[in-house]
Amino acid sequence: VEAFYKWTFQFFAKFRNPSLFSYFNELKVSENFKYEELAGIQLSKFQELILFLSKHNDFYSKHIEIEQIDINNITLDDLVKFPIMTKEQLITNKTKLVTRYSFKKVFNCETSGTSGQVLSFPRNEEWDSFNRASIMRGYSWFDVNMWEYNFYFWGYNFNSTKRLKLRFLDFLLNRFRIFDYNTKTLEKVKNKIENVVFIEGYSSMIYELAKLAPKGGYNCSKLKMVKGTSEKIFPHYQEEIRKAFGQTMISEYGAAETGIIAYECQFGKMHINMEGVIVELDDYNEIIVTNLNSKSFPIIRYKLGDTIILDENGLDCPCGKKHPVIKEISGRVGKNIIGKTKKFPSLTLYYVFKNIYFSHNISINYQGHQNDIGKVDLWFDRVLTKKEISMVQIELNKYFADEIFFTLKFQMDFRIGGGKLRDFITSINNS
Ligand SMILES: [Zn+2]
Repeated sequence: VEAFYKWTFQFFAKFRNPSLFSYFNELKVSENFKYEELAGIQLSKFQELILFLSKHNDFYSKHIEIEQIDINNITLDDLVKFPIMTKEQLITNKTKLVTRYSFKKVFNCETSGTSGQVLSFPRNEEWDSFNRASIMRGYSWFDVNMWEYNFYFWGYNFNSTKRLKLRFLDFLLNRFRIFDYNTKTLEKVKNKIENVVFIEGYSSMIYELAKLAPKGGYNCSKLKMVKGTSEKIFPHYQEEIRKAFGQTMISEYGAAETGIIAYECQFGKMHINMEGVIVELDDYNEIIVTNLNSKSFPIIRYKLGDTIILDENGLDCPCGKKHPVIKEISGRVGKNIIGKTKKFPSLTLYYVFKNIYFSHNISINYQGHQNDIGKVDLWFDRVLTKKEISMVQIELNKYFADEIFFTLKFQMDFRIGGGKLRDFITSINNS
């Protein structure tokens, strides 16, 4: 059976991502490099990227010309000559940012804005494959192969053709996908746990599964890695997870636009993926990321919205890697929407508006507010038409039927309280 999944994985991976395995092999070699050698990789990739963009990208060729940047003698010190970009700026300048070049293969990639706008952008095959190879390298540190049996705590998109596709993909990837927190689903999962090799997904959901473990923990002798993504991993999660699975959760840090920024090693250190990104910090410790493979839609000096702290002693990690270490990330907080009998990750709201955007091409800014169980106020920055309201209600019903009563409020100001815009605000303590 294992041979079947290995073959299937490799077959489809080579078909979808032709350069995946060569990038993986390269990354396995460079993981043993000295810091100076890694910086050398960064420099040559940066030079190549800028040279390419100077020829094929409207936004950056213009910038290079205006700033009179000497692209033939560019060094990493020249990075500061490029503007810092936020997600809103990527959205506003999207037309100019998309590179005019016929790549062999591009994937369409989508990500949510801070208050629900969707950014979709093309990701060239090399970029996509490099990112997957970086994740594979992280798995290899735990002796995990991607085709081994796993639990995937992630969202379902309830659009029916997409759901079928996901089921097929889950089958090929030998994974069991878990979407909601209800006890019935998790009870089902418990019976499969002894065969699972790795678990990944929202940390808050893995935490819920951990809480259901019998005294003394689960019988999970095959389990090699528990990985949390997208949400902050709270210390109390780790305690519960160690009791349940006999190991703590490791984390992978990245975003759709930036790719993998850091991956935790077996000694608990989050090593920066230097071969793929350049990380800078501003005066407030906000992370600024440059993706070195982002030719089709440049991610240069991108402000992700997270605050990080670098580990001064990171270069001496017992694992031997010389990639600098991120000690702490703040700014990503996992929160749930609490229904009458179930909990939903707040990202579920994002699916609602993403579906509307992709099936009707209508973009709606929203912000969810919850103060009572089973009730959510949905704020909008404008007045929605009757047609839009019915679209919203149909989509909300697909996910939250009978669980949450929604009140729609129009022409609201999202920025109350200042700071970073959030798409979901709750006063119910549920983390
Ligand atoms: Zn390490």
